Amino acid sequence: MPSSDNRGKLFIVGIGPGSTEQCTGRAKDAIRESEIIIGNDFYLRLIEDLTAGKEVITSSMGKEVERARACVDLAKEKRVCMVSGGDPGIYGMASIVLEVLEHDGASIDYEVVPGVTAATAAASLVGSPLSGDYVTLSLSDLLTPWEMIEHRMDCAFAMGVPVAVYNPKSRGRPDNLAQALAAALRYRDGDTPVAVVKNAFRESQEVRFFTLQSLVADDSYVDMRSIVIIGGEGSRIGTVGDREMMITPRGYDRKYIY
Ligand code: SAH
Repeated sequence: MPSSDNRGKLFIVGIGPGSTEQCTGRAKDAIRESEIIIGNDFYLRLIEDLTAGKEVITSSMGKEVERARACVDLAKEKRVCMVSGGDPGIYGMASIVLEVLEHDGASIDYEVVPGVTAATAAASLVGSPLSGDYVTLSLSDLLTPWEMIEHRMDCAFAMGVPVAVYNPKSRGRPDNLAQALAAALRYRDGDTPVAVVKNAFRESQEVRFFTLQSLVADDSYVDMRSIVIIGGEGSRIGTVGDREMMITPRGYDRKYIY
């Protein structure tokens, strides 16, 4: 039931990958309906045009638990919006906010608002590389032990499906991606297509194609704001006019002539 105006509410909102054009209508409404907007600096700057005149609380990367605690406390009386890049439930803020809410024990009205995640945003810019089953991996070992990530890499590449790699580089571990690519090479040919999308749907957006072998030779192009899509067994590079694309056919060719 809708809560009365003087009751608090907590929105956990995914703002999509960048420009507010990729932010859903519900996400924009949740931001407009909120009195207080909390998030990290980088994402708040992307949605500045939606937050004018509101109380905006910025917090730096790495302070997620404090941010979650703060928004739960504020939401007891106010309409609060916690913004997360992409989708809040994919390597985002939704889980920690919900865990804090659960521990808090208070009955707070909340809503998780989905957003366009980096994998599908990047896929759309590249062609259709994730058309069937695929796996996402994050190489960030801030919350997941590296041994577990290594094990998951092996499982993912063994599946033969495309793998979308989030957090491919970090300041602390610049060689994470090299290790993932080495794992991929144990299961894939060196000429497997790989797409790197940097800053999807942001001003400095860039898209570049590699082969697995060429990225193994030099992955310096990839940074923290990139997502890396490593092709699966059926993935290939195609062209439309003079535009290259990466495509993983779903298998229509097994059934139809076109
Ligand atoms: N919740 C976010 C992911 C946060 S993890 C989502 O659903 O998209 C942060 C990682 O996501 C970055 O290191 C990068 O790998 C990827 N990422 C997020 N936004 C991106 C964008 N606009 N372009 C390319 N990669 C992006």
